[in-house]
Amino acid sequence: MSKKTEAEQLKEQLLMTRKHGVYQLDDDKVKEADDFCEPYKKFLNKCKTEREVVAHTIKQAKKAGFTEFDVGKKYKPGDKVYVNNRNKALLLAVIGKNRSKNGVRIAAAHIDSPRLDLKPNPLYEANELGLFKTHYYGGIKKYQWTALPLSLHGKVIRKDGTSVEINLGEDENDPCFCVTDLLPHLASEQMGKTMSKGFTGEDLNILIGSRPFRDDKGSELVKLNLMKLIHEKYGIVEGDFLSAELVMVPALPVRDIGFDRSMIGGYGHDDRVCAYPAMMAAMDCKAPESTVVTVLADKEEVGSDGNTGLNSSFLRYFIADLAMQDGLEARHVLSKSKCLSADVNAAFDPTYASMYESNNSCFLNNGVVITKYTGHGGKYDTSDASAEFMGEIRRLMESNQIMWQSGELGKVDGGGGGTVAKYIANLNVDVVDLGVPVLSMHSPFEVVSKIDVYMAYRAFLEFFQAKEKKEK
Ligand code: MN
Ligand code: MN
Repeated sequence: MSKKTEAEQLKEQLLMTRKHGVYQLDDDKVKEADDFCEPYKKFLNKCKTEREVVAHTIKQAKKAGFTEFDVGKKYKPGDKVYVNNRNKALLLAVIGKNRSKNGVRIAAAHIDSPRLDLKPNPLYEANELGLFKTHYYGGIKKYQWTALPLSLHGKVIRKDGTSVEINLGEDENDPCFCVTDLLPHLASEQMGKTMSKGFTGEDLNILIGSRPFRDDKGSELVKLNLMKLIHEKYGIVEGDFLSAELVMVPALPVRDIGFDRSMIGGYGHDDRVCAYPAMMAAMDCKAPESTVVTVLADKEEVGSDGNTGLNSSFLRYFIADLAMQDGLEARHVLSKSKCLSADVNAAFDPTYASMYESNNSCFLNNGVVITKYTGHGGKYDTSDASAEFMGEIRRLMESNQIMWQSGELGKVDGGGGGTVAKYIANLNVDVVDLGVPVLSMHSPFEVVSKIDVYMAYRAFLEFFQAKEKKEK
């Protein structure tokens, strides 16, 4: 072997060499990652709304020994509890040996995803077609939601207070729904518009039926026939739509992507691709030193407002309950707490390379992405993680051989975005974003790398199991 030149030695000592790609791992570890993703794919197929994630996770958590948190009960280290916030957000906690004395360790992901919500009064008939009016939820490119099979999910509260859950269009034998688009032959005017004007929010109408009630007298017989069928299946009448949360999501199954099956395509990776690993880390973590909390929040895609979003106090109240059990003040516990805000970032896409700055982008297959800040226009609307906390998390990744990379959301002034990090930072908690790089984010078919999903799990697990510095 030839001796290294001085330049080579200096390079090694001083410069950051970007270790690209999956073969930082040996084949066994690659297989571990692939295997970890099989149940994740099932989870993603099964859980397409926040309500479905909460219901499924509670079932899983109970099997793993979690019980519903009772503020009057005294918990001991190792006990596992959950708090169900209105069936749309969930907290999972494992009580640590040091309880909340040195703060708690939080992984916070969100379980809502962009979609089309039905309007409160959705059902109408036009030219003998039955349709639903929608109001889109979260940031979408509207054209991506046309000419695509959609399924109906949600809950309806009937006039008498009884309720029914709806999930129609996922099974291949179910009917599904769609938004129609204009044929190219007649679209010259539409094609001349900008992409944001080519398809408006009021154009996102869902086709739900076309056969009229068999009677030649009377108007709106398609609507009548549809309401009759809906009533037969779900026992609801038109007025019940007013007390409902019904959403349309892509009826596409999750699929492996690529000849090498290295990636997963599906709806709702943002942010179930972080929620699932964070939830699994809570279930798998053994006897943590500090109490650990996985937060599965709702409403992130619309700014985290509302009582199931992280701009509300539900997390703070839970920490206060934990603090009270330990005879501490919530503010003292929060001030010593640490959080990984578990959310996705935009993976570098060579087709749209000009929107990224490659030295500060994240790449598929390079592990979890740590995003120091998000925001827009000169770091507005974000929490910028401190050098100290970045240093701590960096050491945690490197000492546990977790593949990680740093990333910004696109180039400066290219746009922007946010996560729940700032709401948690505002509680005086140390927080940084850590999650999975995603291609085609917010589209009906997002893409992630299997290696990165597994690294997210390892990151949350090691964060939960980290040894605390000795307190004096
Ligand atoms: Mn997200
Ligand atoms: Mn998002």
